[in-house]
Amino acid sequence: MSNRALLVVDMQNDFMPGGALAVAGGHDIVATINKLATQFSNVVLTQDWHTPGHASFASSHPGKDVYETFDAFYGPQVLWPDHCVMGTEGAAFHPDLDIPHAGLVLRKGYHPAVDSYSAFLEADRTTRTGLDGWLASRGITEVVVCGVATDFCVGWTACDARHFGLTVSMVDDASRGIDLDGSLARAHRNMDIAGVDIVTIGQLLVV
Ligand SMILES: [Zn+2]
Repeated sequence: MSNRALLVVDMQNDFMPGGALAVAGGHDIVATINKLATQFSNVVLTQDWHTPGHASFASSHPGKDVYETFDAFYGPQVLWPDHCVMGTEGAAFHPDLDIPHAGLVLRKGYHPAVDSYSAFLEADRTTRTGLDGWLASRGITEVVVCGVATDFCVGWTACDARHFGLTVSMVDDASRGIDLDGSLARAHRNMDIAGVDIVTIGQLLVV
């Protein structure tokens, strides 16, 4: 069995152009990710999955605008447009995402008062999603991370994978960022510090 897994982060309609929280070029990486996934026997798809009226939505905080920050009990929380509400079309995967052999769909962000950019730890930084245990019990020691958005869910997932002792690569050109007030450069710096190897698709694809 392979000891590595591909983590495909949040390739959902609301994060694609035309969606509620569009990430520029998000749809451009679908075909690349499909191809990359054929090289992995272990694939995890993460799915942002919020309750209606979730604490990370600006609409839940009267007087606040989107992209402002709110002081959540666990620290500053960016306020987003309503997105990826559980069970809606916006929360569904991009229709062209074609990874039928994915072994796990991991939903995150479904606790009403806590966001979860990371696929490992919620934003309170203590509640585990269980992904670390799933990977460990399957003997997986290395993860490759891609998807959207580089500077939020991808970056946090990659850094937390390092926190759980995994070897981590982030595929920069199989990911797309939002870049809110320098967040993309900050995410790259944080991944560097955490020991995430930032790679390109050409370094991974076996032709
Ligand atoms: Zn979200």
